[in-house]
Amino acid sequence: RQLDQALQQAQAATRVKSTFLATVSHELRTPMNGVIGMTSLLLDTPLSDEQRSFVQTIQQCGETQLTLINDVLECSKIEAGKLELECLDFQLRTTVEDVLSQFAERAQAKGLEITGLVHAAVPNALRGDPARLRQVLTNFMGNAIKFTERGEVTLQAFLESETPEGVVIRFEVTDTGIGISDDNQAKLFQPFTQADSSTTRKYGGTGLGLAISKQLIELMGGQVGLKSRVGHGTTFWCTAKFTKQPVCQPAIIPN
Ligand code: ADP
Repeated sequence: RQLDQALQQAQAATRVKSTFLATVSHELRTPMNGVIGMTSLLLDTPLSDEQRSFVQTIQQCGETQLTLINDVLECSKIEAGKLELECLDFQLRTTVEDVLSQFAERAQAKGLEITGLVHAAVPNALRGDPARLRQVLTNFMGNAIKFTERGEVTLQAFLESETPEGVVIRFEVTDTGIGISDDNQAKLFQPFTQADSSTTRKYGGTGLGLAISKQLIELMGGQVGLKSRVGHGTTFWCTAKFTKQPVCQPAIIPN
């Protein structure tokens, strides 16, 4: 009974912590939006070059801070069991194209090639949470581009398994970037973890993206993982379950 009591106390404490984080993050977001909004307005007024550069720095810092707050909010929401997935009809190929087009400019600026391939066997008309799927693929693609200096980044979707009602799709994002050592691979899906401390200095980031992606994928009934070789590149993969949209039957008109 004592063990049971201790477990309940621990679970209650986790819930209180998550609710506290969710509330605090929410309260922090409102003034941050004010700061960013006002700096945009300020940038539209006559400023000296020096003043403009100061305001741009404030804006950049504000945006970084807001991303961090949003990530912490998201993590605590998932931990508190408050995040519910949507169940919407969507076209998988459109979602994949949306993700790729977000990165076209950034990839071109770095001289990287990006390609997308949805294999022919993958059904298009699915039901699930396309926004959360996009969030995970965006995290994988964003990292792939960030940690690759030359070569290419590929996003692929394969049919892993199929039943009459649903499918499991496997997504893979492969890059030809810096790679991740075996030691570091194991810990990357934990919150606030980066491959090594030099990453933050060189590339920025918070180490929350993969932790959030893992939790979202688990909510979608899937798994995440990676394969990597230092200096050669990395493949991040995930699977997710979706329902198939019911096929419209043609109306039978009696003669
Ligand atoms: P962030 O990118 O904000 O640091 P993530 O959780 O998305 O947070 O990634 C955590 C860490 O995993 C990164 O800081 C980096 O060290 C490593 N990482 C992720 N994707 C790649 C990749 N494609 N190639 C090399 N390292 C990666």
